[in-house]
Amino acid sequence: MVYCEYCGRQFHDVRQLATAPCPYHPNGSNRGYHKLYEGSLKSRYTCRYCGRTFSSIMQMVTAPCPYHPNGGNKGRHSPAL
Ligand SMILES: [Zn+2]
Ligand SMILES: [Zn+2]
Repeated sequence: MVYCEYCGRQFHDVRQLATAPCPYHPNGSNRGYHKLYEGSLKSRYTCRYCGRTFSSIMQMVTAPCPYHPNGGNKGRHSPAL
């Protein structure tokens, strides 16, 4: 199984992931494809910006991050590898 770094969705293989539009793409909803999360699968995921931990990527990316590089809460948490 592979995961999208933006939305946390699960796919069977990278090809399937890389050819489907992502609703959480940073350029806008469905304005780009899913991106492969290249980190290892963990029981807790840490946000690369603020260090908060979440039990799944999907849970993490739906919440705005107070330390996002675009400005406080102007983007969502993003999983560190
Ligand atoms: Zn995605
Ligand atoms: Zn964060």
